[in-house]
Amino acid sequence: MPESELAGHMLMHRSKDRKFLPAPLAKPDMRVREEPKGIPFEEFSRQMLASYPQKSNLSLNEIKETFVQVLQEMGLSVNSLKVDLKRASILSAVVFDEKRNVELYYDDNYFRTLTKDQITAELSHEACHIATLPHSGVLFAGGASDFVQSFQIAFIELFDEFLAHKEFARRFRGTKMFDLYQELKGRDFENYGIILKMARSGQMDPVKALFTILNDAIYFPIVEDARFLKWCKDNELQKTSEFLDWLIEDFRFIEGLNLNRMDTMEMLHQAGGLSLGAHPAALLNLDKIIFADSAPMAEDMISKKNRHLAESWRKRRLSHSSA
Ligand SMILES: [Zn+2]
Repeated sequence: MPESELAGHMLMHRSKDRKFLPAPLAKPDMRVREEPKGIPFEEFSRQMLASYPQKSNLSLNEIKETFVQVLQEMGLSVNSLKVDLKRASILSAVVFDEKRNVELYYDDNYFRTLTKDQITAELSHEACHIATLPHSGVLFAGGASDFVQSFQIAFIELFDEFLAHKEFARRFRGTKMFDLYQELKGRDFENYGIILKMARSGQMDPVKALFTILNDAIYFPIVEDARFLKWCKDNELQKTSEFLDWLIEDFRFIEGLNLNRMDTMEMLHQAGGLSLGAHPAALLNLDKIIFADSAPMAEDMISKKNRHLAESWRKRRLSHSSA
């Protein structure tokens, strides 16, 4: 990628140096539950996963073979494939460049709690990232604060999950693979509950909590699985579900523009900035959509670059200003 295109931005490869989102199951936050004093987190995570039923025990090589088979069956060719362990911070993740040099990382402690078929489903989801992106780099503003950078990364990763889940549904709906993945996603809710509790008790930043939940939960509306909406109703979070629908609306709009990856990410920064106009704490704590006083200003600013997105958010704000 030419230097000029970066224009003060930096690319980061997912899962290599996450600043914000602790990745799929947000395991670091589970510490709060049992407060393992003095135990390193990796050991705590291992113990926790070891307490679940152990359903398989595949070696690194067997995981690699399984992934190779998944890629083959999905018609995805890669230039090289490296597989390695990464415990406690992720469940599984792929990192790849434009030349399709792919690195797959997974937590073997987590994988042992899955059947071989479930592992194949999990790896098929990872393969959908390869199918839908030119590379796994994520754009963020080089000069921005840590918070803004983290948020920009999180927002792009949310979009990437949107793409991957759509791809998964397109390829597998109606097959056993689809059912297997759906079954796996049922395990998410316990984790959402923990994150929500932490956010509501002030132990976790609400933006981080909200986007950690949405990163996983975006699956449900994409495949029209009502379980997330039900969970939201049960937990007084209906507005969060509505908020997620807005993001998906924006994602569909941005995807429809068929921009290149860099321009797509630039536009996601704009959409993400607008979405922050709705107070995350109000969503999680009060089940209300309350816009910040600065939201109209952000809309005016972004309106110059992207009228459609700005107008969408203006309409959303105005429809909620009297509520
Ligand atoms: Zn994913």
